[in-house]
Amino acid sequence: MTQKSQATKSRQIVLASRPEGVPTSSNFSMESVEIPPIEDGEFLVKNEWMSVDPYMRGRMKAGDSYVAPFQIDQPLEGGCVGRVVDSRNEKFPKGDYVLGNLGWREYWKSSGEGATVIDPNLAPLQAYLSVLGMTGMTAWVGLNTIAKLKPGSTIFVSAASGAVGSVVCQLAKAMDCKVIGSAGKPSKIDWLIDKAGIDACINYKESKDLAGDLTKHAPDGIDVYFDNVGGEHLEAALDAMNDFGCCVECGMISTYNATEPPVAPRNLFKVIAKRIRMEGFIVRDHLDAQAEFIADMAPLIKDKKIVWEETIADGLEKAPSAFIGLFDGDNLGKQLVRLG
Ligand code: NDP
Repeated sequence: MTQKSQATKSRQIVLASRPEGVPTSSNFSMESVEIPPIEDGEFLVKNEWMSVDPYMRGRMKAGDSYVAPFQIDQPLEGGCVGRVVDSRNEKFPKGDYVLGNLGWREYWKSSGEGATVIDPNLAPLQAYLSVLGMTGMTAWVGLNTIAKLKPGSTIFVSAASGAVGSVVCQLAKAMDCKVIGSAGKPSKIDWLIDKAGIDACINYKESKDLAGDLTKHAPDGIDVYFDNVGGEHLEAALDAMNDFGCCVECGMISTYNATEPPVAPRNLFKVIAKRIRMEGFIVRDHLDAQAEFIADMAPLIKDKKIVWEETIADGLEKAPSAFIGLFDGDNLGKQLVRLG
């Protein structure tokens, strides 16, 4: 006879109120809940890592975007990696590690939907939330499927030292492209030049003329702009773009906390004048390419041709401040929260 499981106490973070402008700690609260015992076909996961991501800010707004909004007083969600600690599902045996989307909590139970068993020998567990996970795949899809990047091109990457940007930079360098980044701190710029090997980097917080600085580094113009930031960065990129160039619209973090419509870009007509292709994308529309992405990325990681950084906050209670810090540029590389 199978022994009946016990209920499990778990802490989780809920959305206490919708942020207006930049989120604050008062928008979040911690609560304790009891997870009922698992039934046949279910398994229980103890989270070890969770991801905080800029897109979560969009889900904190009331209106529908491309993902349903978070609900007030309900737990937040997001990428997580944990260990199966109890199981009545043979596909997810006790001891296996899984990738799921029920972060912001200590434990979750599932019958398997949206959960994937991962191989802890391929890369460190938390890499499945970054370079080998959603943000790495965003970089890979943006460059290969959207930009169709050609070797030898000149590319400008904003938020270049972040989780997506740092992988974009290195994948482009691996294709012999000239890479110009932008970042908000000297330490990030040093990392990009010394470790990621990019050609030049603009400190956008110190720049008085972003378009002018971009042209200084790319006197022959840019062919691709990988946009993580929007606003003034996009305006500068449109100014510096070559005819028939491409803007990969991945994210616009400079607008996520805006309470007024953004002023820039004021030069959208350049899309016509320069015959620019501007294409937005959402990584989860490309999940059928995941096996190809992993097959491409795993050897680059193994051979240390791609390096990456993690900024780690310890403890579930630190998740809100880690998330808020994304908008202050507190993270170098992928911002993670360690729960294990
Ligand atoms: P990052 O790791 O890049 O973290 C965010 C970084 O953005 C910060 O560290 C900060 O770096 C920079 N930043 C914050 N505010 C501003 C601002 N006002 N102006 C300029 N830079 C700013 O995050 P991710 O790599 O996870 O995400 C990068 C972008 O990609 C985001 O826009 C995100 O929404 C988008 N994204 C899109 C996906 C898709 O499917 N389309 C999937 C995943 C992410 P700094 O110190 O340089 O300012």
